[in-house]
Amino acid sequence: MAAERRVVIENCSIATVDADDTEYPTGHLVLAGDRIESLGAGRAPEGLENVVRRIDATGHLVTPGLVNTHHHFYQWITRGLATDHNLFDWLVALYPTWARIDERMTYAAAQGSLGMMVRGGVTTAMDHHYVFPRGSGDLSGSIIRAAREMGVRFTLARGSMDRSEKDGGLPPDFAVESLDEALAATEATVDEHHDASFGAMTQVAVAPCSPFSVSTELMRQGAELARRKGVRLHTHGSETVEEEQFCKELFGMGPTDYFESTGWLGEDVWMAHCVHMNDSDIDAFARTRTGVAHCPSSNARLAAGIARVPDLLAAGVPVGLGVDGTASNESGELHTELRNALLVNRLGAHREAALNARQALRLGTYGGAQVLGRAPEIGSLEPGKLADLVLWKLDTLAHASIADPVTALVFGAAAPVTASFVNGEQIVENGRLLRADEDAIARSTRDEARRLARIAAQA
Ligand SMILES: [Zn+2]
Repeated sequence: MAAERRVVIENCSIATVDADDTEYPTGHLVLAGDRIESLGAGRAPEGLENVVRRIDATGHLVTPGLVNTHHHFYQWITRGLATDHNLFDWLVALYPTWARIDERMTYAAAQGSLGMMVRGGVTTAMDHHYVFPRGSGDLSGSIIRAAREMGVRFTLARGSMDRSEKDGGLPPDFAVESLDEALAATEATVDEHHDASFGAMTQVAVAPCSPFSVSTELMRQGAELARRKGVRLHTHGSETVEEEQFCKELFGMGPTDYFESTGWLGEDVWMAHCVHMNDSDIDAFARTRTGVAHCPSSNARLAAGIARVPDLLAAGVPVGLGVDGTASNESGELHTELRNALLVNRLGAHREAALNARQALRLGTYGGAQVLGRAPEIGSLEPGKLADLVLWKLDTLAHASIADPVTALVFGAAAPVTASFVNGEQIVENGRLLRADEDAIARSTRDEARRLARIAAQA
């Protein structure tokens, strides 16, 4: 058997984000094939064979690749609309446009969403896609293709909506699937695309959209489907006070009790937002090991509120970070969410003790790996784990005068990415995508955004 090709990275600071938060002020990593072989202080060991590349990473911090846990890629082509709305008004304003998307649009939008995140240090992405207009083509396939081409690890959360206005839901009647259609298409997507093996590049989760757009039966049967297939479950929960009122009026209980009653709490579930949680809701998440995707910028954009992240963490709830769809977070970047998570949470009850820089970095890396069910593979830099990592350049005007590299990364300006690796393969160099043409993506996303606006205006 041929020896694995080795890549050596040296002279960098390293934040491993392992269980002890081990850091090396000056250290090295050795990658072998798709794995991290070894890492530690000082220079790499002498006499390594089969070294195909040696990177002098002086002036850099190396961290695990960032893991995004909540997004809606298609929204890339509806950014900058309904900019002064709360969640429900924003949804009602945008549903009619979203209901006109097709495969060409979702492919371009996925490229745009992925490109923006990947060049900012994301190595594992996810897309919660829940709008499937009749006759719109293979939307799931187009999204998965975009991720595969860019070289990023990916979870498609196959969403669905079947509770429209006529059933007391929020989406218009023409924007939803039937219960049977949604379940059958979700199962087909799992069968076609889900890879359960170690190091998988594509996984699928079952992901009905939210209590206010999905029937109780779809929640129940969706959970059963996911468990029968052995895949994870994802949805939106406890995002706004309006959602809480909606659940109380329709179901006679708050969102967390409703989720529990439909089989939606468990260690195989992660939920976006979780802003409006009382102590017993947090206890229920901790008891069941249900995960949370914290989306601070989107929650601020839609005036949803501040999630109780310090309380969730203290209770032992797994928490990752999410960009959320770019119609409610136009920047579409995850590395800036490290800073936003820290700052937003300090505006909450715990004030300056809410989160520190290392906790913020953990949310964006290991925490994300946990909620996606991939902590044995990614999320920290440890021998045997997959070689998904980022070299952040911290020796320029933006960061050079900050002594501590993790503080520089989290508190400072968005740091440039010199290189980003997935499975030991480089996918970003000097802030540019290596496997996709950013300028071509910029053009196609602009064109598809205009085409969608035109079709929506004619409808
Ligand atoms: Zn969302």
